[in-house]
Amino acid sequence: MKIEWVGTKNFSEGRGGRKIIAIVNHITAGLMPGCLSWLQNPKAQASAHYLVTRDGRILQLVKDGDTAWHAGIVNKPNWKLYDGTNPNRYTIGIEHEGFPNEPLTEIQYQATLWLHRQLVAKHGIPVDNDHIIGHYRIDSIRRPNCPGPKFPWDRLFEDLKGKGEDEDVIKTKVLFEGMELEGFIKDKTTYVEIRKLCEALGLKVYWNDKKKQVEVSK
Ligand SMILES: [Zn+2]
Repeated sequence: MKIEWVGTKNFSEGRGGRKIIAIVNHITAGLMPGCLSWLQNPKAQASAHYLVTRDGRILQLVKDGDTAWHAGIVNKPNWKLYDGTNPNRYTIGIEHEGFPNEPLTEIQYQATLWLHRQLVAKHGIPVDNDHIIGHYRIDSIRRPNCPGPKFPWDRLFEDLKGKGEDEDVIKTKVLFEGMELEGFIKDKTTYVEIRKLCEALGLKVYWNDKKKQVEVSK
């Protein structure tokens, strides 16, 4: 994956000496290209460091070392790392194209997961719900639905805490009607030797070399 620089004039240079300690997730409540042009419009007085689009692009508007204007207004916060100063100074803002009541697209989820991984590694951000939060934790009055109820928090934390792909494969034996099959579990799905399983069911398994696929029939 890659990050595409698009830029905006809506930011403050530097971070006033503060260190980045957290990521704040947002939803645009609008679609491309309008949501991007709004974040680039000086009238908006708003921005974010990144915008992850529904087609899985990662656009960068503000450098990590500068202050984006994404969570500066604090209203009844529910965030123990808030210290009374402007949260923009010590957070990174990620906008997601879409609406609070709609899930991210799969490709968009994979892009934001990848981006979170990069930022966590680069800035030493702990993976927990104090250091990776939603905008509503800072402004619970005006932004209760940012990023909204469909944001995949559980999956994101699980994936961020998980190791890389394939390392989470669990080898297992599957007892099928008394017959032992070799198998493994990956992403909560169990895989077994299909030939042994099908033959036990009286089905034939063969390799279709023309179509390069496995076929099963009676
Ligand atoms: Zn927001």
